[in-house]
Amino acid sequence: MAVGRREGCDPDAAAGPEPDALSRDRLLLAAMQTSPDAFVVLDHEDRVEWWNRAAERLFGWTVDEAVGEYLTDLVVPEQYRTAHHEGLLRRASGGEPRLGADPVQVEAVCRDGSRILVELSVGELEWEGGPRFHAFIRDVTDRESARSALELSEDRSRLVFENAPVGMLLIEVGDGGFGRVISANPAAADMLGWSRDELRGMACGDLTHPDDGHLDRRMVPLLLSGELGKLEYEKRCVGRDGREVWVASSATLVRDLDGSPIHSIHQLVDISERRSAAQQLVRLNEELRRANEGLAAANAELDGFTAAVAHDLKNPLMAILMHAHLLAESEDGRAVGRRAADAITRGATRMNSLIEGLLLYARAEGAVLDRTPVDVDTMVCDVARELSVVADSPVRVTREELPSLWVEPVLFRQVVANVLGNGVKYVAPGIAPRVHVSAHRDPATDAWTLRFADNGIGIAPESRERVFDVFHRETTDYPGTGIGLAICRRIVERHGGKIWIEPGPDGGSVVHVRMPCE
Ligand code: ADP
Repeated sequence: MAVGRREGCDPDAAAGPEPDALSRDRLLLAAMQTSPDAFVVLDHEDRVEWWNRAAERLFGWTVDEAVGEYLTDLVVPEQYRTAHHEGLLRRASGGEPRLGADPVQVEAVCRDGSRILVELSVGELEWEGGPRFHAFIRDVTDRESARSALELSEDRSRLVFENAPVGMLLIEVGDGGFGRVISANPAAADMLGWSRDELRGMACGDLTHPDDGHLDRRMVPLLLSGELGKLEYEKRCVGRDGREVWVASSATLVRDLDGSPIHSIHQLVDISERRSAAQQLVRLNEELRRANEGLAAANAELDGFTAAVAHDLKNPLMAILMHAHLLAESEDGRAVGRRAADAITRGATRMNSLIEGLLLYARAEGAVLDRTPVDVDTMVCDVARELSVVADSPVRVTREELPSLWVEPVLFRQVVANVLGNGVKYVAPGIAPRVHVSAHRDPATDAWTLRFADNGIGIAPESRERVFDVFHRETTDYPGTGIGLAICRRIVERHGGKIWIEPGPDGGSVVHVRMPCE
C-alpha cells in the first residue's frame, strides 16, 4: 500500500509521556481499538506494527497474526503487489508520495481470499527517528456496488430510451396539464419529422392535432389526480410538415417521494397505416353497401320490367293468336278473314314497336357514353322539323337560347325526341300542339336544366312518377308503347342527371331535364 501525506514530528512523542498523557494515550488506544473503521500502523518497510479490531474483522487476521507481516503480503491483491513495492521504493528514496491526502479506493484481499473494495486515508509521521505510516480503511464494497448498480440501471434506461423502436417523450408536468418536452428519443423525432432539438422545449399541446386536443384535456387531469395510473388512447399528432400522424399514446407519471409529479413519460406507436387500412375498410364496406342497394334496386326494376313485359307483350300476342284462330275457323272466309288479317297486322306491328322500344331501353343501359359537346339548340330545331314532317297538324316548337351540353349525342337525341314527341302528341283533339323549350343554369353548381313546356292534356299528380315505368301508359287514346319516358330516365341518369315532370302554369306539362356540369 503506497503512502500519503507526512504529518511531521511529534515533539511530545520524542519527549516521553507525562502521567496525564498516559491516560490520554490509553483513551486514544481504546478509541482506535473501537473505531468502526479499520486502523493500521506500519513501519517504514510496510510491516504491520498494529491494527485494530475493525481491521481484524475486515481482513480476517488477528492483530497477533498481522504484526510483523508485510501488509502487501496480507491484504494487497497479487496483481497490485509489484506496484505497491515500487511505491515503497520510491518513498524510501525520497520520491514523491504515490498517494495524496484524499481518500482513495483500492481493492484488497481478505484472509479467506474474498476481494473487497476499500477506501483508505493514509498518513505518515516520524517516530523514533524513522517514518511510520498509518491508515484508516473503510469497506465500501456495498456502497460502490450500489452506486454501480444505480449507474448501470441509469445507463440501461438511457439505452432503452435512445434505442426504443417506439417514440418516447419526457414531458414536464405543471399547471394541471402536460407542459414542454424535456427530451425526445430518435424514434419520436423520426415519427413526427422534427429534430430532437426542435422537439425539446415544444409545448405538448402543439404536438397534438387540434381536433384531438379535447382528449388530452379530458384525460390528463385523471392521471394527475391519481384516478388513473396510466393514460392510453389513440389520437392524432401533428408532424413537422403539418401532416396527421395517428398514434397509440400511453403516458405515465414519475413522482417524487412526496408523490408530486415530476414529469411524464410518453410512448407513441405510429398506427397511421392501421388507421388508414381501417378507414379503407369502412370505405369499401360503404361502397359494398351502396352496390348492394343498387343491385337490390336493379333486381326490383327487373322484376317490374319482367311483369310489364309479360303483360304488355302478351296482349298483342294473344290478339294475334285469337285472330289467326278466327281466320282459320271462319266459314264464310272473306269479311271475317279481312278483319282478322287487319287485327293480326296491327298486333304484329305493335309487338314489333314494343320489341324495338325494349331494345332501345336495353341499349340505353349498355351503350358506351362517348360524350361530346352538343348544341341543344340545333338538336331541338332538327327534331322539331322531323316532327312537323310526320305530324298531321302543324307543330309549333319555340325556344329560348339553349346551351351546349357535354353528352352522348345519339342517346341524348332520343331524350329530346321522346319529350318533344310526347309534348306534340298528348294534346286534346282540335288543339294545335305547342312546345316551348327553355334552359336555366344553376349558378351554384353550373348545372343546366332544360324545360319542355307543352299545352297538352297534362298528367295527374299521382302519375307523374309512374309514367317513367316501362310500359306504363296513362291513356290508350294515343298511340305509343309506354317505353319512351323510361328510356329517357335511363339515359339522363346515366349522364348523372335527373328528369321529372311538373304541371304547366296554364295547364299542360313541363318536363325538366337537369344535366350536371361536365
Ligand atoms: P308513350 O308515349 O309511348 O306511351 P312514354 O313513356 O313516352 O310512352 O309515356 C308514358 C305515358 O306518359 C304516356 O302513355 C302518356 O300517358 C304519358 N305522357 C307522356 N308525356 C306526356 C305529356 N307531355 N303530356 C301528357 N301525358 C304524357
